[in-house]
Amino acid sequence: MKSLNIILLGRSGSGKGTQAELLQDKYSLINIDTGDILRALAKRKDLFGENISKTIIKGKLVPLWLVTYCWLNKMLSLPSDKGVIFEGSPRVLEEAKILEETLSWFSKRKLLVIYLRTSEKEVTNRLLNRRICSKCHREFSLALNPGLKKCSHCGAKLIRRRDDYPQAIKNRMDFFKKNIIPVINYFKKKKMLIEVEGEGLIMDIHEEIVSKIKKHLK
Ligand SMILES: [Zn+2]
Repeated sequence: MKSLNIILLGRSGSGKGTQAELLQDKYSLINIDTGDILRALAKRKDLFGENISKTIIKGKLVPLWLVTYCWLNKMLSLPSDKGVIFEGSPRVLEEAKILEETLSWFSKRKLLVIYLRTSEKEVTNRLLNRRICSKCHREFSLALNPGLKKCSHCGAKLIRRRDDYPQAIKNRMDFFKKNIIPVINYFKKKKMLIEVEGEGLIMDIHEEIVSKIKKHLK
């Protein structure tokens, strides 16, 4: 059987990261995290590194040729029959088309796009209530643990991520509407899209994704 390849789409705060990890284990996929690759390149002590770092800090998109390089480089280092999963890419329609083409050049033709559907209101609340441990980076929700100040795992102080404030959250929601919705519609038209309700228990959502994948591959 040819390996499965997945693109996971959803708003920030939709639980994409958690679902990506579960799918990665379930289908033994390699997670191609463009953000991670870019952050590593941003550490270079030269103009190239500096430019990437500046772009990320400003919250702007790095150029398309650079994200393409990141995937290509990673895919060339993998056995060709290995399935991959993307959760930070694509971020615009043009990128989605290039990613699709790149995957087909690697003979990764069994591609499914999963959209974790959540309302803007729900994820905004989740993000406003999100706190991160300053030491072990575990995530906590003030909605579930009202008044929590310290990490229940290591005891370090909980902090709020710089982009978890109202204006930054609003910007991400606007970005989603403007750029990711067209990507979702593009794959929907090509009958490659699986939509899953992203509000509920983590394992229930995972089970639903898996059962819809099975149905789709039949
Ligand atoms: Zn901690």
